[in-house]
Amino acid sequence: MTGDSSIPPSFHQRDASDATYLSAFLHRDLSGTGDVVLAYEAALRSWFGAAAAVSVSSGSAAVMVALGALGLRPGDEVVVPPTAPLCTVYPILAMGGVPVFCDTREDGFGLDLDDLESVVGPRTRAIIEVPMWGYPTPLIPLRAFADDLRLPLVLDLAHGHGIRLSGRPLWTYGHLATFSTHESKFLSTGEGGFILTDDADLAKAARRFSRRGGLNGRHLGLSLTLCGLQAALGLRRLRLLNEHLRVRGQNARHILKQLTQPQLQELPVTSGGEPNYYFLVLRHRGGSAHDLIEQLAAQGIPSDIRRYRCRPLYEFPILSAYRHPCENARRLLGSMTTIPVHPSLTTTELDRIAAAINHVSRL
Ligand SMILES: *Cc1c(COP(=O)(O)O)cnc(C)c1O
Repeated sequence: MTGDSSIPPSFHQRDASDATYLSAFLHRDLSGTGDVVLAYEAALRSWFGAAAAVSVSSGSAAVMVALGALGLRPGDEVVVPPTAPLCTVYPILAMGGVPVFCDTREDGFGLDLDDLESVVGPRTRAIIEVPMWGYPTPLIPLRAFADDLRLPLVLDLAHGHGIRLSGRPLWTYGHLATFSTHESKFLSTGEGGFILTDDADLAKAARRFSRRGGLNGRHLGLSLTLCGLQAALGLRRLRLLNEHLRVRGQNARHILKQLTQPQLQELPVTSGGEPNYYFLVLRHRGGSAHDLIEQLAAQGIPSDIRRYRCRPLYEFPILSAYRHPCENARRLLGSMTTIPVHPSLTTTELDRIAAAINHVSRL
């Protein structure tokens, strides 16, 4: 069963009336500093409850701008988990920074505080936490750790729209939070991203860095702005996010309640946390998820683990110089898979996914 019956890994937020809607914007200022982009940023502030939102051209640009706003200098170290995607680390390299890998906790994607203590040092300039596939990480102790050392905490929340922890939006636990609105992400503008912060100075620095340093000849900056047409799409699609959150949670529960394999469990949700179900993450309790992933793939059910060949990032050639063995991270990535639960899946498709998981052999 492949081809026509394949389950799409992500959904497309397209609507038949998009063309009519967008055409009304064509006579407006579509630059990254025009009124359409400003209206989109106001809508982001309101949906996320943030004091400041800075829209940028991609999630990668958002990470770069966060580092630029923090004044990252060549040779500065940035701590990052090896379970992040390559696109979290490339901006560190592009800025001349040095990625320093830190292991994750045993039971999820949060940084392990003991390993963190061992890898931070005088050259550490920032810590980046990357909650993957929509699952919150225990950010209260991590933020306390960062504050004790006066280190800025950046959250790469490319998967993190709408995640909550202890009654607060997850993004509020970072000094800066970065998001992607790439076509495949929770909220799509085709390409795009944004940064949220409640810190007025960091907001100003992020805005300046992404807008050519203000061309004042004193501050470095690049042109990393979002086009007004993309912002217009964002304005339209932000209104659908609450409904998408609801449907994703419902789809995840629909699959979970049908599962019968005792070896499989949902990735443990950190205490007080509410995932956004960008994906449902299943974990093999004792061993490798390889057979699960391959047998589901043969039935047209995709896995991000397979698609992106997920492994600790220092195992990729471009990052091998930054090797720091991370056993928890290796075991975590090797024992899990992602299951699509996006809003375009039908009940029939969800039932087919659950049945396929229940029929996996040799687990
Ligand atoms: C997608 C993604 C990015 C990069 O976003 P782009 O918009 O594709 O540049 C960064 N970090 C994470 C965790 C991502 O998933």
